[in-house]
Formats: sequence, C-alpha cells, structure tokens
Amino acid sequence: MKAFVDKSGCIGCGLCSEICPEVFRIGDDGLAEAYGKVTEDNAELAKEAMDSCPVSVISIEE
Ligand code: SF4
Repeated sequence: MKAFVDKSGCIGCGLCSEICPEVFRIGDDGLAEAYGKVTEDNAELAKEAMDSCPVSVISIEE
C-alpha cells in the first residue's frame, strides 16, 4: 500500500505526521509528504491519519 498527499490542499497542520510518523512527515516547505511505505504494521495508523486530515488531501492506494 502507498499513501499520497495532495500538497496543493495541505494546510501543514501536522496531524498526519503526529498520528503516523512512519509514513508522513512535514517537509522543508511546511507541507506534508508521504515518505514512508504503508505496511501491515502501520496501515491502521496511516488510515487514521487519512481520516483525520482536516482538508482530506490524503489518499491510500492498495
Ligand atoms: S493532516 Fe492533512 S492538512 Fe494536516 S499536514 Fe497532514 S496532509 Fe496536511
């Protein structure tokens, strides 16, 4: 599975990287990026981060 962030809508709130730092981080531009692989171990947190994003710009593909 792989996560994506549509940066054009990200507001840099940092919630996703707080919830699932293995997959999401805030880049130098102050916006989130999905740098880590979604694995069996972190998939639940990655999905929680996706559901928690206030502007719904995170997606996860199987
Ligand atoms: S939760 Fe959404 S808006 Fe907040 S940093 Fe992550 S992708 Fe951006």
